Amino acid sequence: MICMKVIHEVEKCIGCGACAAVCSEYWEMTDEGKSHLRGSKKRGSVFELEVEDPECCQQAADSCPVQCIKIE
Ligand code: SF4
Repeated sequence: MICMKVIHEVEKCIGCGACAAVCSEYWEMTDEGKSHLRGSKKRGSVFELEVEDPECCQQAADSCPVQCIKIE
């Protein structure tokens, strides 16, 4: 099983809510007016999470207007 890494560049996030709307399994909105990748770990200025199936997060990435969600 190949794991993909989902990266959230939280500083660029404008808190539009699109990611949480299309992929609520992984994305939620916070009181700080940003989104949060559920279960992710902070690494420097970004949050990272390994996922087995990136489909949902890919939809979140595609919906993000500032492209601050990356899948590697
Ligand atoms: S879609 Fe992008 S800008 Fe909007 S809340 Fe999610 S990560 Fe932030």
